[in-house]
Amino acid sequence: MNIKQKIEILQHELTHAQYLYYVKDAPLMSDYEYDQKYRELVNLETAHPEYIVSSSPTQRIGLKVEGPFDKVVHGRPMLSLSNVFNADEVRGFDNRITKELGRRTSGYVVELKIDGLAVNLHYEHGVLIRAVTRGDGRVGEDVTANVRTIKSIPLYLENAPDFIEIRGEAYMPHSEFKRINEERDEEGLPTFVNPRNAAAGSLRQQDPAITANRNLAFFAYAIGSEAGANIHTQQELLHRLEDFHFSVNPHYRLCHTVDEIIEAIDYWNIKRHELPYDTDGMVIKVNDFDDQEILGSTAKDPKWATAFKYAPEEVETIVKDITINVGRTGVLTPTGELEPVFVSGTNVKRVTLHNQDFITEKDIRIGDHVVIHKAAEIIPEVIRVLTDKRTGTEEPFVIPNTCPVCESPTVRRDGEAAIRCTNAYCPAIEKEQIIHFASRDAMNIDGLGPSIVENLISYKLIKNVVDLYHLTVDDLVIMERMGKKSAENLVKAIADSKTRGLDRVLYGLGIRLIGSKAASTIASVVGSMDRFLTITKEELIAVEEIGPTMADSIVDYRNNPQHIAIINGLMQAGLTMTVNVADEIGNEMDGEIVVLTGKLESMGRSEASKILESHGAKVTGSVSKKTTLVVAGEDSGSKLAKANELGIRVINEEELLALIKSWS
Ligand code: NAD
Repeated sequence: MNIKQKIEILQHELTHAQYLYYVKDAPLMSDYEYDQKYRELVNLETAHPEYIVSSSPTQRIGLKVEGPFDKVVHGRPMLSLSNVFNADEVRGFDNRITKELGRRTSGYVVELKIDGLAVNLHYEHGVLIRAVTRGDGRVGEDVTANVRTIKSIPLYLENAPDFIEIRGEAYMPHSEFKRINEERDEEGLPTFVNPRNAAAGSLRQQDPAITANRNLAFFAYAIGSEAGANIHTQQELLHRLEDFHFSVNPHYRLCHTVDEIIEAIDYWNIKRHELPYDTDGMVIKVNDFDDQEILGSTAKDPKWATAFKYAPEEVETIVKDITINVGRTGVLTPTGELEPVFVSGTNVKRVTLHNQDFITEKDIRIGDHVVIHKAAEIIPEVIRVLTDKRTGTEEPFVIPNTCPVCESPTVRRDGEAAIRCTNAYCPAIEKEQIIHFASRDAMNIDGLGPSIVENLISYKLIKNVVDLYHLTVDDLVIMERMGKKSAENLVKAIADSKTRGLDRVLYGLGIRLIGSKAASTIASVVGSMDRFLTITKEELIAVEEIGPTMADSIVDYRNNPQHIAIINGLMQAGLTMTVNVADEIGNEMDGEIVVLTGKLESMGRSEASKILESHGAKVTGSVSKKTTLVVAGEDSGSKLAKANELGIRVINEEELLALIKSWS
């Protein structure tokens, strides 16, 4: 292949990659691979400028946006960043700065490079009037209605100049990415490849209710136009952003030498895997604004900053088998059973293959050598098949047209990626539905986990959730390994769950698209199950955070007589079908503003909130100067760091339990 052909192939490949990434929010290659190829193309084009064409992907920042949103021209262009990939290139960057300035600059601020999408916020007289995506750097899309749903973005800034542009990264936390993809797998919708694409897709929704349900977050890191801001360094700027009550990533570092920069890069290369959001590198910025001004920008990137990009952790393994799981909504989900392999801190044995399209597109066969990584640091994902390692014995896989559990026919509805079992009474669906109903965020029935549910079904003691409330100790003791004491405990736990309230029941019913947050919003609007059964689609849509698709799903659910029979059965069993107002049990926490973060072993965060609220505390979602107490469970991330920085009292789970105990 000659140079010209090589350049053309790369131009073509990268143009297609840009389209999939920027327009479709569904990339096929990893960012790292893209960056390497892009660099190769730039090098080849620099050596052979005669082959540069104006349509080359190197000749623009991103792709023009194609959405239905209004276009907005940025006051100052939103530039991209040049990339460096190793310590030598970091030194090269520092040398260039020194050369251009004719002296050393006083220092660099090194920030985490959050893998989300840049958003530009316009505040007029302190009021958020517009939010715009980066788009092609010059013109972006007006996504104000959606951005207003991001809780870490203040709608009003105290003491702001007449007009100010704030820039930062909108991103999707890992927990949210995991939840949404699990939900999408259940719904038969294509899953998001990574949190960045999920965030981009969420911001470009027609219906802000959907964005609101995606729980995006935002870190501010720049000011676009400095009207009246009077700031001299990046470090000062970050403090100023905090004063405006933006959430600023706390892990930035002011470095004076290139060795300190490299040390920070090495440190975060390991540590970043513990963060609750994706990062793909570190951004190195000249701290002094006067120096930034002198250095200036090229058409694409500022010369005073660069991004160090981390290589993703990718490992090779073998798909030994592909198995099928039938979920709560009847979706048949294929799982790759892997030769166990260590990746990003854990041993991975299984990987979801999502649906038939995913398997077909990637051409994954039983026996294949594959490369996997962890999406959002937690979810194993097949990146590609190593086809050159095939021996000819690999078997292609097709999801069967009968359910592996009940042998009923399966269907694929128009426009859906999922293949579903058609039998509403499929034991697998009923089992998953009961497990969901008993789960922590739903009825929270202690001791009723997946294996007990499976046993209860196989002993023919229950078929659906209503049957749970008719179980007696005598029924239960016939089961193997179920003593009298455990049986009594289980019957009591089931009885205790009757008073959880309408929000939990609505979530527990497992209505498509109705997560626990939406269920609680709906419960507070309708107030009672009777009203839930009669509220119209229009009335539902009028509720903030409930969009037309969710409303449709509720109406569909109610139209099914089997569902109404379940609701009636639960009513007759005596479940509370109204909203529980948090009872004021005590006032020990009056005046306390509490934030819960991380995982709590002994209870869910929602349960902990209820207990704290019932003793007078106000529980909020983000740490600010007003916060008086932070409860930090396992894997606490940025909120804990922020609390420490602000000097707020932090207690762990053990201390929380001791505190609760002291009130009784
Ligand atoms: P970039 O991702 O290399 O860097 C610039 C962006 O970094 C900014 O716009 C901002 O959004 C972000 N950022 C995060 N934290 C920041 C901080 N603390 N300070 C400043 N900026 C911060 O460049 P880009 O122009 O946004 O996107 C190009 C990148 O997109 C490529 O390098 C590649 O990784 C990816 N891409 C991938 C594919 C693919 O197929 N996988 C295709 C096209 C582009």
